[in-house]
Amino acid sequence: MKYETVIGLEVHAQLQTNTKIFCGCETKFGEEPNTRTCPVCIGMPGVLPVMNRRAVEYSVKTGLATHCTINPSSRFARKNYFYPDLPKGYQISQYELPLCENGNVEIVVDGKLKRIGITRIHLEEDAGKNLHQAAGNASLVDLNRAGTPLMEIVSEPDITSPEEASEYLKNLRSILRYIEVSDADMEKGNFRCDANVSIRPAGSKELGTRTEIKNVNSFKFVQKALEYEIKRQAKLLDGGERVVQETRLFDSEKGVTSSMRSKEEAHDYRYFPEPDLVPVMIAQGEIEDIRKTIPELPDAKRARFVKEYAIPEYDADMLTQSKALAAYFEATVKKSGNPKVVSNWIMGELTRLLNAAGVEIEACPVAPERLAGMITMIDEGVISTKIAKTVFEEMYTTGKDAGTIVKEKGLVQVSDTGAIEAIIDEVIQANPGQTTEYRAGKEKLFGFFVGQVMKASKGKANPDMVNQLLKKKLSG
Ligand code: ADP
Ligand code: MG
Ligand code: ZN
Repeated sequence: MKYETVIGLEVHAQLQTNTKIFCGCETKFGEEPNTRTCPVCIGMPGVLPVMNRRAVEYSVKTGLATHCTINPSSRFARKNYFYPDLPKGYQISQYELPLCENGNVEIVVDGKLKRIGITRIHLEEDAGKNLHQAAGNASLVDLNRAGTPLMEIVSEPDITSPEEASEYLKNLRSILRYIEVSDADMEKGNFRCDANVSIRPAGSKELGTRTEIKNVNSFKFVQKALEYEIKRQAKLLDGGERVVQETRLFDSEKGVTSSMRSKEEAHDYRYFPEPDLVPVMIAQGEIEDIRKTIPELPDAKRARFVKEYAIPEYDADMLTQSKALAAYFEATVKKSGNPKVVSNWIMGELTRLLNAAGVEIEACPVAPERLAGMITMIDEGVISTKIAKTVFEEMYTTGKDAGTIVKEKGLVQVSDTGAIEAIIDEVIQANPGQTTEYRAGKEKLFGFFVGQVMKASKGKANPDMVNQLLKKKLSG
C-alpha cells in the first residue's frame, strides 16, 4: 500500500420534468429528430429563456435529500464553448452561486458508515446530440435533447476506492429515484458520471494530479475504468514519471483509458453571469414546502427495517434499493409475519424470476398478498419449503394463488406419521449396506437417508418429521 487513491465524482442527472428548462418543448425521447424544438432551444437570436419552476424545485429537493444548504439566491452563468450540438455557442449553467452546497451522501463500506461530501448541486441545460455518419459522410445534429434540465452533482474528493465510488453512485441513484426527480438510469444516459482520480503517497496530505474519465455508462465500467486508471498512474509514479492532468476516455471493450484532450481550465470557458435570467430567489417557506414532499429515504428505511423487522443489514440494504421493492416487502410481512422468510423469498426466487423475465418489481405478477398466502401455507405445514419453490414458480407464471396450485397438483405435504414411516422402512430395506455402516457409526450417511426418503415421497414428506422418524428408525 504505497499509494492511496483519491476519487471525486461529477454526476449529471436528467430531471424528469415534462418540459425543457427554458422553453415549453416536451422532454420526450426516441422521437423523430428535431421535432421537440422551438426557437429558444435551437438558439435563435432574439429569444429569451424562461426558467422552469419544476426544475428548480427538483434540484432543491435533491439538495435537501443530500443534506445540502440551499442558497436563498442563486445565479445562472454562460459557459462558452463551440460544438455543433450547442446551438447558442454557450451552455446556460451555474458557476459562482449554485442552488445547493455542502451536503453529503452516506455509504456503507465493510459494514462501516461513511459520509461522502457533496460540494455542490447546480442546474444547467443539456446539449443536443451529434449523429455521426448518419447520412453517408455527413454528421447530423438532433436538438431534441437540447435544453433538457440537468443537475450536476459534484462530490468532494472523499472517495478512496473504486468500490466506494460504485457504492456512492448506487446510493445517489436510489435517492434520486426515491424522491422522483430523475429516472437515473445510467444505460439510458440520464445518469452520467465523470470520474476524477488521483493517487498520492500513503499518508501524504497533498492531493496528487488527477485525470478525469468522461461519461462511463455503467456502474461496472466506472469501477473498471477507475481500477485501470489507478494502476496506470501508479506505474507512472513508480517509473519516476508524472501524471498529466487531462481528460481520458474509457474503452469498455479493451478495458483501458486513453487520452482524449488536455484538461480545460475554468477560464477557457469565459464564464460570465447570464444576462437574460434574473437570479433565482427561494424563500425559506418554499424550501420547507419542498421538504414536506420528501419521503422516507433509503438510509432511514434501511435502519428502520433492521430495527423493526430484525433482518440483517445486508437484507435491509437490498430491500431498500427501490421504494417499490421496500413497499412490496412491507406489504407481504404485514400479512404473513416472518420478515426474514419474506426477505429470503424476495431476494431469492422472486428476484431470480423477475431478472430472468426482465421485469421490474412494479410489474410483478405475484401480488404481496399472494406471496404472504404461500408463506403462511409453509408456516402451517401444508407445503414444504422445497415444494413451495415449485408452487411459487407456478404462481409467477399462471397468476394463480398458492392454495389453488397445491390443490390442483396434489402438492400437500405429507405429515402423516404412518405414511412417512412406511417410506422410511422401504428406504432402509432397499439400502442394507448403508444401514449397517450408519449403525456402525458412519453418521455422515444420515443425509443420504433423508435424501432417499424425500425422493421417494416426491418432495412432499414433512422434512422435520422425516428427520425425527429416521433417527428413531435407524437407531433401532
Ligand atoms: P472541474 O469542474 O474542472 O472538473 P472541479 O474542481 O469542479 O473541477 O472538480 C471536479 C471533481 O474532481 C470533484 O468531484 C472533485 O472532488 C474532484 N477532484 C478535485 N481534485 C481532485 C484530485 N486531486 N484527485 C481526485 N479528485 C479530485
Ligand atoms: Mg469536470
Ligand atoms: Zn424549445
